[in-house]
Amino acid sequence: MRYVILRDDDTNAFTPVDCLERLYRPFLDRGLPVNLAVIPDVRLDAVRPDGLPEQFLFAKNGASELTKPIGDNEKLVNFLRDNSGFHVAQHGYDHSLFEFDSASASDIRDRLERGTRLLLDAGFPRSQTFVAPYDRFSAVSLREAARRFRIISTGWFEWHRVPRRWWPRYALRKFTRQSHWSIGKTFLLTHPGCILSRHRPPETILEALKRHVAARRLTVLVTHWWEYFPNGKPDESFIQVLHETADWLAGEPDLRVISFEDLARVGLPLD
Ligand SMILES: [Zn+2]
Repeated sequence: MRYVILRDDDTNAFTPVDCLERLYRPFLDRGLPVNLAVIPDVRLDAVRPDGLPEQFLFAKNGASELTKPIGDNEKLVNFLRDNSGFHVAQHGYDHSLFEFDSASASDIRDRLERGTRLLLDAGFPRSQTFVAPYDRFSAVSLREAARRFRIISTGWFEWHRVPRRWWPRYALRKFTRQSHWSIGKTFLLTHPGCILSRHRPPETILEALKRHVAARRLTVLVTHWWEYFPNGKPDESFIQVLHETADWLAGEPDLRVISFEDLARVGLPLD
């Protein structure tokens, strides 16, 4: 059996319900869990590393606060809670640029705890999974996240961004070429980059996904809901690829789509 976890990043207080409904209804109808990495208190001036405004705010419509907590969008919160196929992971705190690439333990703890509190206040169950904005951690933030979460999902791990005490395990994992590893009770998951991206030719995506999923026991597939709606308009051919992906995932008898919570609950041989 092979396993797939689907992770969609950047849901925030300005995410239109219609976008998630359009993208994920075929997954929910087939019983395929969707893990949303949710920004607890999104900054309205969030910018990408190249300085351009983040596209996950395309629906903010002139709002002028500094930040907006997810719980302020009742329609969205109710939609996510009413559809049990959605699972919420904590995605940073406010998604300011590289907010978890910090050496300050008190700043990191503050962001982790305030983010968790806002997700709980919105009525979501306590998330066991943490995703850093831009997948960027420091050694300090990895250590603090591992103390609080059962699962950390990121792109890759670099030795100089891993706590010193983890180095022996890190070296072993490098030597044995494991994609995923663990420290104590925390699973440390990598992913093969954003294959489900509109920056790839749509006709190549599904074949690339199949190759990656065939290569390991557990694959985390990462995508971004806002990429399917450039400037708020649906990119039909890219949405079609996502829905073909749902068809393929549901139709493979030796492939199971699970949530991060499923992994935390049952554990799995990861490689
Ligand atoms: Zn993000």
